[in-house]
Amino acid sequence: MKFIFSTKYFADIGIHVFPIKKYIIVHQKLIAEGIITEQNILTPEPASVDDLLLVHEQRYIDDFLNLRRTPSIMRSELPISQPIVDAYLLATGGTILAARKALEDGIAVNLSGGFHHAFADHAEGFCYVNDVAIAIRCLQHEGAIQKAAVVDCDVHQGNGTAYIFQNAPDVFTFSIHQEYNYPIKQRSDIDIGLDDGVGDKTYLRHIQQVMPRILNEFQPDFILYVAGADPYKEDQLGGLSLSIDGLKQRDSFIISQCMEHQVPTALVLAGGYAFNTADTVEIHCNTCEVALECVENQTSQ
Ligand SMILES: [Zn+2]
Repeated sequence: MKFIFSTKYFADIGIHVFPIKKYIIVHQKLIAEGIITEQNILTPEPASVDDLLLVHEQRYIDDFLNLRRTPSIMRSELPISQPIVDAYLLATGGTILAARKALEDGIAVNLSGGFHHAFADHAEGFCYVNDVAIAIRCLQHEGAIQKAAVVDCDVHQGNGTAYIFQNAPDVFTFSIHQEYNYPIKQRSDIDIGLDDGVGDKTYLRHIQQVMPRILNEFQPDFILYVAGADPYKEDQLGGLSLSIDGLKQRDSFIISQCMEHQVPTALVLAGGYAFNTADTVEIHCNTCEVALECVENQTSQ
């Protein structure tokens, strides 16, 4: 199975709660611990303007590519610079590539992505480009799939994704998130807005109830799993109180369900802002390790 990565996923955003270095550290740790080798890694191309326009409005993309500080750009909580624009284009290209590889191999991971707060016409949060929506629209545009589902487990609702696909019968959106937290909510096909501090047991029960429904009732041709690390109990921007082990169980359940139903699945890392960045990195690496284990289990059966 393939992991998509570029050192240019990192760009200088100054002192920030978003630990953008995590992409580099996750990649280093996966290699150092022998979880993946360089042969597992593919380097993405930046998303093209045509890719971006499958989801975003022309005027917004013009502003973004030309670094214009318009109100729609300034709704992001990040600075804007050429390296930042390049990092987002590359991350989006990475999610597109992961989606294509998932169709070939059953599963693939972009070691970035999950910028689910970006809307068609404006940035939000730490998200300029909605790579999740673009990758799905790309596969549909190519005729590779018809129906896709987004399984968004970031602690913050995937509001941009939900809004983009609100009238799209061919894309099912599921978001499980902390209700009383950023952002202003949009309507997904299924939203589970959890109370603060629910912990592993309640969270996993919801996941176990919803996944079979999505797989059996909607029957997607492809799943994009937004595997956010920020439901973690020591996250600075999340308050669901999940443990590292609970997050691992979440990943294991979701990925194995997708594989049992033989639905190609692309993973993106999404949020993670633990007080100790090493915890965020560990959670993301666990997601990758669990995906590899699920593939091994599948092939040994
Ligand atoms: Zn988040």
